[in-house]
Amino acid sequence: MTAKFSSSVSNRRHTFTPYAVVFALALATTSTPTAANDPPAEIGRYETPGHAPVNSWWVPTADGGVLVFDTLRTISDARKAVSELRRQGRPVRAIFITHPHPDHVTGLATFKAAFPDAPVYATREGDDWLKHHGGDILKMNVEARAPGDATTDIPPADHDLRDGESLVIGGTRVQVNWLGQGESPAAVAYYLPDARLLVGGDIMTPRRVPLMGAAHTKDWLQQIEKLGALYPGETRLLPGHGPMTTLAAGGKWQSGYIRHFRDLTAKAIAADSPGGACVTAKEAAGLLDDMRRTWPTDAIVAKMPADALNQLNIEGVGHEMGATACEGRKNPVREGD
Ligand SMILES: [Zn+2]
Repeated sequence: MTAKFSSSVSNRRHTFTPYAVVFALALATTSTPTAANDPPAEIGRYETPGHAPVNSWWVPTADGGVLVFDTLRTISDARKAVSELRRQGRPVRAIFITHPHPDHVTGLATFKAAFPDAPVYATREGDDWLKHHGGDILKMNVEARAPGDATTDIPPADHDLRDGESLVIGGTRVQVNWLGQGESPAAVAYYLPDARLLVGGDIMTPRRVPLMGAAHTKDWLQQIEKLGALYPGETRLLPGHGPMTTLAAGGKWQSGYIRHFRDLTAKAIAADSPGGACVTAKEAAGLLDDMRRTWPTDAIVAKMPADALNQLNIEGVGHEMGATACEGRKNPVREGD
């Protein structure tokens, strides 16, 4: 963290003790001491605590306002973020959604109610998905949270985004990159050319166990390549989970993780492997052991037991690569399951 941001955090402890401490701890525990991970003073981040932290990023506009990217997993998280945004005093000019997963959209109604003048920018495809299969995923989030702390009621976009669209909001340019199906359906990355900043959602979340249950890792790798070809490697990346990094570092980590997981899956489903085309529990344990050694992580992206996420990933990637079902592994994330 920069001095300016850190000092504003520590100054708050006098008047906002319980929350300010949580916020300061969240900031302090997720930074690593490299230049690339050191956000400039003006970029704000609310990161939820716990084993599956998620971000809402706040990027200032040229006219003194702020753009909000993503709205967190629970209503209580969103309320805390809204309080912090209000305390900072910058008017919210717009709310952007990177993709329609519950940890990014559940707080949207809370943000929208708090900042009614800020239009919501999201995709029609994402909104449609939330009415169908995505609705089941939202329900799972509601059931896993404290009563009343999550909702399936997600406001639709006020502005349906299109690929290649260039917006100017509060004097700040935002370029829309439609990426589509990969980690989630209807993923979008936003490039802010003046700040040379990419808000990437969950396309690149270094050192976080990703969610590969949607069974679209091949598309996902292409999305990473697409962004890498469009922008310089030193472009600052604001990921959906984890601290700010660079596009080069984010792309290298994420594509490496996915490729290695796919390579191990290919071995586990080979005809001459112990379980043949299915990934047995023993093969899955070996695969995950290898991943932990070769691609260590600090946290996971989905708020569920780590092994549940790992098993979803085994099923998702396995299915995508032609594995047969075995060992009773379920995957509610994948369409048609
Ligand atoms: Zn996420």
